[in-house]
Amino acid sequence: MKIEEIRVRGTVQGVGFRPTVYRLAKAYRLRGDVCNDGQGVLIRVSGSEEDLTKFVTKLQQECPPLAKIQELSRTSYEGEFNFDDFVISSSVSNVIKTEIVPDAATCPQCLQEIFDPFSRFYRYPFTNCTHCGPRLSIIRAIPYDRHNTSMSAFTMCPECAKEYHDVENHRFHAQPVACHVCGPKAWLERADGKPVTASMFSMMDDVDAVCTLLQKGQIVAIKGLGGIHLACDATQEIAVQKLRQRKKRYHKPFALMARDISIIEEYCTVNAKEKELLTSSAAPIVLLPVLGRKQLASLVAPGQNTLGFMLPYTPLHYLILKRMNRPIVLTSGNIADEPQCINNDEAREKLGKIADYFLFHNREIVNRVDDSVVRVVGDTVQIIRRARGYAPATINLPLGFHNVPQILAMGSELKNTFCLLREKEAIVSQHLGDLENVAAYNAYQNTLNLYLNLFDRKPEAIAIDKHPEYLSSKLGKQLASANQIKLYSIQHHHAHIAACMAENSIPLNSLPVLGIALDGLGYGEDSKLWGGEFLLADYRQFQRLATFKPVAMIGGEQAIYQPWRNTYAHLLAAKLWDTCQQQYTELEFFKFLKQKPLKLLNQIIEKRINSPSVSSVGRLFDAVAAAIGICLEECSYEGQAAIEMESLVDINNLNNYKETNNYHFEVGFLDNIYCIEPDLMWQGLLDDLQQQIPQKTIAAKFHKNLVNTIVEMVKLLRQENLIDRVVLTGGVFQNCILLEQVTKHLQSLEINVLTHSLVPANDGGLSLGQAMITAAQLINTY
Ligand SMILES: [Zn+2]
Ligand SMILES: [Zn+2]
Repeated sequence: MKIEEIRVRGTVQGVGFRPTVYRLAKAYRLRGDVCNDGQGVLIRVSGSEEDLTKFVTKLQQECPPLAKIQELSRTSYEGEFNFDDFVISSSVSNVIKTEIVPDAATCPQCLQEIFDPFSRFYRYPFTNCTHCGPRLSIIRAIPYDRHNTSMSAFTMCPECAKEYHDVENHRFHAQPVACHVCGPKAWLERADGKPVTASMFSMMDDVDAVCTLLQKGQIVAIKGLGGIHLACDATQEIAVQKLRQRKKRYHKPFALMARDISIIEEYCTVNAKEKELLTSSAAPIVLLPVLGRKQLASLVAPGQNTLGFMLPYTPLHYLILKRMNRPIVLTSGNIADEPQCINNDEAREKLGKIADYFLFHNREIVNRVDDSVVRVVGDTVQIIRRARGYAPATINLPLGFHNVPQILAMGSELKNTFCLLREKEAIVSQHLGDLENVAAYNAYQNTLNLYLNLFDRKPEAIAIDKHPEYLSSKLGKQLASANQIKLYSIQHHHAHIAACMAENSIPLNSLPVLGIALDGLGYGEDSKLWGGEFLLADYRQFQRLATFKPVAMIGGEQAIYQPWRNTYAHLLAAKLWDTCQQQYTELEFFKFLKQKPLKLLNQIIEKRINSPSVSSVGRLFDAVAAAIGICLEECSYEGQAAIEMESLVDINNLNNYKETNNYHFEVGFLDNIYCIEPDLMWQGLLDDLQQQIPQKTIAAKFHKNLVNTIVEMVKLLRQENLIDRVVLTGGVFQNCILLEQVTKHLQSLEINVLTHSLVPANDGGLSLGQAMITAAQLINTY
């Protein structure tokens, strides 16, 4: 007989880990106990050497679905040991590891119960267990116990309590456990305030009635897990059109939900990796290539070659879709740029003119958690929006960062997340949206306060973006001075690069990488706006080696939504506008630009009134897209023109453009660094337009040449610097063609290419990088 102490670290609390330990220990007739403590789970156990080894192997194999073992160590136990049996002990110290677990999609066992007429959970929309259900969305305070969640309003009935206390039940210690008798309820309301008459639906219940309403072409607001959605039948042209008009969301693609994968496969191709994501406990929206055989309503995702699908992730969604043999639109329930509504009154007020019906429930959503969005590129998963199912799972820090001081990083202005660093891990918040919106900013502050409870004491440092006007930077400054905390302001693109290094486990004292950060805008070291940067960087510092030629952003932010402004600015910068007036007067974009007050615009640029010079690749994409007729006049969301242009390109055809290649980017100098100049590219593009070369050919040639230019720049920089790793980051690298092609070419040069898979390449990943750079500056490295 041996007595061992087994220490397990990772995500092991509040996820059904102890019951698994208990079950297996019983199966091997071991004696001892298991408990949670400040470091994770501690097991003291006695048995034969052989049984103990089998037990540990099984524990790793049968790890519960939401648990993640990061480290398991076995040592022989010398202390007092008087157990006749195996038990779950109460926690040994009061320092419990305070971790919040992400919300998880309905598990197979609960799913089976909600469709089993003999189960007490039959058709119960809020069924959950230790392996599934709400977590982050209902938590008010730490630790994660029922009384600290919005389930505190419901008292468990005796049957639920019995399951909750039964260690062999899959609801053992499931904080949100509930049933028809004791738990939350769902009900239907009409938006016009009239009563819902029973004769309208001879359906099973209010949840089932939603299906009938959707089939009849109605718009229903559905309160779900982390927010309220707007739903309609995705195959009905009129219903989708009505939703777009009422919501005033004209172009941005709608997310879709389908009952099962076979329905999704009628519209999209789904590979094995994508299936795995769809059915994972995170259950994100997965962007899938359109198959083109069967059509949805044309307004579901105009100008896109992908559709964003998710599977039902709560019993409520399963019950609504049970009789639905086609996809539904399930888009966030909000007006304009506000965050998604989360409470009933707010929804009645704000969505009353959009929805025909509401399906409400009385379990309060404490934290707004949007649906996550992911995409598979090659064989890696790219996270575009990290929220439900992923946040706030921890990210392990690379070597050299263990025992970091506690740091709070405030994130960006758009697509904001914030990040906390402590001990060996980073906690990145869920996507919180664009802070310039008042409601989003308020939510940001509330969420920040909740997360700050995670700290035992206040953070030792606060990191902000260098941009003086970001609201997150201003708030960070206030917090730092009010609490006398050290403040670090971090350059935007350096933070992008550091985030990517961190998630790829690049150790603290590694050689610098070449970071290529291409995005819309970020505040530069020289107080100018950057957005096309080649930086030689480690976690501590960076050196700018190359950039793109700065071009005016006429009217500032207006240029993001009116792509023609960028086309005009680029043609002026390339000194091609006069040529246009002589030779290209018949081109569509030229005729369009001619109607604009060009004299006035010239003055604005000359006097630099609200027209900063920016080295932005995001704006270059806008300029090219508009020139070939995509969103020339306006777009309704940032990057729309670029995304629609990418959709036109047939990636398999890219290599056919070798012979006629005339879209050359030149390399010049600017302030003693290399500068990529697109002047000749524009000349080639104008010639092609004149010769009426198809839009998709021009789009492909532009992509191909931009890829080549980036690769050539890396080769050039490699002659002068020691570079074996290249980081690809920034929102522009969400362009799959660019990401895939640049990666492929660099790898063929035997360069190690690092890309994002845990946090977004866009500003959603920025906070992680800010925190890492600050940590590196704080850590003593002698
Ligand atoms: Zn379950
Ligand atoms: Zn109950």
